[in-house]
Amino acid sequence: MNKKPFNRFVIILLYVHLASIFSFAQKPTFRAIAFYSTNVERDHVQFAGDVLAFFAKLSKEKHFQFDSTSDWSNTNDEFLKNYQVVLWINEFPHTEEERRAFERYMTRGGAWLGFHVSGYNDKDTQWPWFVDFLGGAIFYTNNWPPLPAKLIIDQKNHPVTKNIPSSYRSPINEWYQWKPSPRLNKDVQVLVSLDSSNYPIGKKDIIYHGDLPVVWTNTRYKMLYMNMGHGDQVMTDPIQNRMISNALTWLGTGK
Ligand code: ZN
Repeated sequence: MNKKPFNRFVIILLYVHLASIFSFAQKPTFRAIAFYSTNVERDHVQFAGDVLAFFAKLSKEKHFQFDSTSDWSNTNDEFLKNYQVVLWINEFPHTEEERRAFERYMTRGGAWLGFHVSGYNDKDTQWPWFVDFLGGAIFYTNNWPPLPAKLIIDQKNHPVTKNIPSSYRSPINEWYQWKPSPRLNKDVQVLVSLDSSNYPIGKKDIIYHGDLPVVWTNTRYKMLYMNMGHGDQVMTDPIQNRMISNALTWLGTGK
């Protein structure tokens, strides 16, 4: 019996086996895609740069795949099916096709993490589905200039707020107030709010009083909105960064 072909066969088998182990070890826990724009308000572009770098680093530590694109036409069924989480960093889709594709993605069980202006809506945005998705929250006003604020944790036993103290000082941000407040929606769980001790907040544009939810989820979807996202200071606080990390982990893994 000629031994040579047999040995070659064993070597090939071993190689295939090792390759499969290697690819298993490399398999990401989930895949996330971040959409952002560079032709928007300068402070929103700054935030995009910082938060994209943060997630890219985090993805290596936590073994998930993190991709980003500034091409919003990628909001289509074919592209989105590769991802378990969609992030909107500083913009939202404007075309009807993109909006319908996003609606299908979410209705079929996709997950979404939206920051700051990505949740913005008014009479001109013309997307009732999205307002409903956000829990009925309609943009009402904001403080100006951007300022730091004391935030309080409403829900301490949620995966997003685990290991976060009951209150902390959040770095400079432009805070949005919503009318109606999403808190009025029975399906909405507000996780973090602006503490009323911050009022009045602003100089040119002042918010004097009222409910101001900052982080919330509409429990009818796998979604989370975070109002942070204005300027180059947002990603400078380790407590808040931990919450942002928790947020993507929760949406990607359910934990
Ligand atoms: Zn802003």
